[in-house]
Amino acid sequence: MKATWQRTHECGILRPEHIGQTVRLNGWVHRIRDLGGLVFVDLRDRTGLVQVVFDPSIDTALVERASDLRVEYCVAIEGEVRRRRPGAENPKLATGEIEVFARALHIFSPSKTPPFQLNEENLEVDESIRLRYRYLDLRRPAMYQRLELRHRIVKYMRDFLSARGFLEIETPILIKSTPEGARDYLVPSRLYPGKFYALPQSPQQLKQLLMVAGVERYFQIARCFRDEDPRADRQPEFTQLDLEMSFVTQDDILNLIEELYIGMIETCTDKRVLKPFPRLTYDEAIARYGTDKPDLRFRLELHDLTDLLRQTEFQAFRSAIEAGGMVKALCLPNCADYSRKQIDELTEFVKRFGAKGLATIAFTADGVRSPIAKFLSEGELQAIRERTGAQVGDLVAIVADAPKVVNECLSRLRHRMGHELGLADPNLMAFAWVVDFPLLEWDEDEGRWNPSHHPFTAPREEDIPLLDTDPGKVRANCYDLVCNGHELASGSIRIHRRDLQDKIFHLLGYSDAEIQERFGHLLEAFEYGAPPHGGIAPGIDRLVMLLAGDETIRNVIAFPKNTAMVDLMFGAPSPVSEEQLRELHLRIVCDDET
Ligand code: ASP
Repeated sequence: MKATWQRTHECGILRPEHIGQTVRLNGWVHRIRDLGGLVFVDLRDRTGLVQVVFDPSIDTALVERASDLRVEYCVAIEGEVRRRRPGAENPKLATGEIEVFARALHIFSPSKTPPFQLNEENLEVDESIRLRYRYLDLRRPAMYQRLELRHRIVKYMRDFLSARGFLEIETPILIKSTPEGARDYLVPSRLYPGKFYALPQSPQQLKQLLMVAGVERYFQIARCFRDEDPRADRQPEFTQLDLEMSFVTQDDILNLIEELYIGMIETCTDKRVLKPFPRLTYDEAIARYGTDKPDLRFRLELHDLTDLLRQTEFQAFRSAIEAGGMVKALCLPNCADYSRKQIDELTEFVKRFGAKGLATIAFTADGVRSPIAKFLSEGELQAIRERTGAQVGDLVAIVADAPKVVNECLSRLRHRMGHELGLADPNLMAFAWVVDFPLLEWDEDEGRWNPSHHPFTAPREEDIPLLDTDPGKVRANCYDLVCNGHELASGSIRIHRRDLQDKIFHLLGYSDAEIQERFGHLLEAFEYGAPPHGGIAPGIDRLVMLLAGDETIRNVIAFPKNTAMVDLMFGAPSPVSEEQLRELHLRIVCDDET
């Protein structure tokens, strides 16, 4: 039985076919216009807006009450659906052909004046106010649409994987450290003084143990916790589609995820996907784009000029090459007419990423214009032009330095110019797989090897002997999914043999005691018939951000922390009582007391 105030219809669905019907609506006052007689209210619920008219010829007392309404009052309205008079239709509104003539009004709760306007979509509102009053921010239709998009995407993932025999399994949040290269969040134990749980940086080891358990196909919409320094688009907790499979090769996982992503985007959004996803080796990605997460919506490839310029008279290039560095170029289409000022600006830009300078050569109809042309021979200029494919009207931008600097600077410049030149179509999703990463990275500061993915990643079978002779050359059986310049997923085939896992832990500098303490459970499990297995974990926040056309993941998370990792609504983190500390056997020692 419906209560007398309960809705018969949602606001956003009313159409001419409802004309003549009496409807009851529940929602919020989005806008109110009191014309000193007629009162118009735009009533909003999550499905949209409808115009409600309070007309003195129907009920003067009701009009009086309606004129006391304010924005964001939560109300029920009963009335008759009528066609708007000719000329009063609103084509921008789905319900714009009709309006509801009110006969009854029930106020569930009034509202204080909101701290920012909810009825102006394009209003720039300070993010800290939005986050402090997130429950109001989420009332805005554009924010509801993001929540809804996220729901559809996650549901698509669940349905897709369920149809392929995957089980969704929850894994614990209170667990022991499972490293992904960040600091752990720790939870002190009340029952065991001085002992702590760690929140999972990912369910990595648990999903591997599920493979040992014979589950074969697992997934989870998993929350991960990583205590890292604040960065513009980082959250201390985030969500992954965590997935693991037994008896598979790298290709099986790549194909599955590719099919999932294409289906998901084509079903849930109106974005266009380039297919199939190209596969690049890590080396190829660095060579062609200077980064392992290139934006492939546009070409703008980097060109290596090192071999052309070994003998050059131009000292800046020559000395960089002699010091073991390289010279690479980016050909910027139709930028030959860039002014001194524009070029200076690009130079400053690359300097921010470590370059000493930016050399430019403009190929114009009147010949070459370049501050470095006088140091280069005709032959060198010609070779540069051929290598970069520069046409008349193009500007070639060159950086000479150590490979790391050259790639970093030119990939940043490529990214920037791709956007500035309008080459990055916002409706296009250009995915790529990047494979064959090095297994290990040398950490100069710490003087040791770090896993480039995580310590459970298997080396390529044929590279295993190199672990003893040249660990830096070992390629990993791992893969990243990148899209439009973002890394969206990482995964790998895992080690499933105790001896090999042991060896990798040792290479990473763990002592026997540490290995036993931290990973003894996993190594032990590998002694009971562990199947070969592998998986991946696509991040959901960033994916939804891209699909929603947003610039920040905070917009697609219902209750995010701000960039300083603070929850402004709850005011977390916050102090706790002496009593709580005592129970946890903790004492606070502030830095200035130590
Ligand atoms: N656990 C990994 C991560 O969080 C993903 C994976 O290897 O499946 O990046």
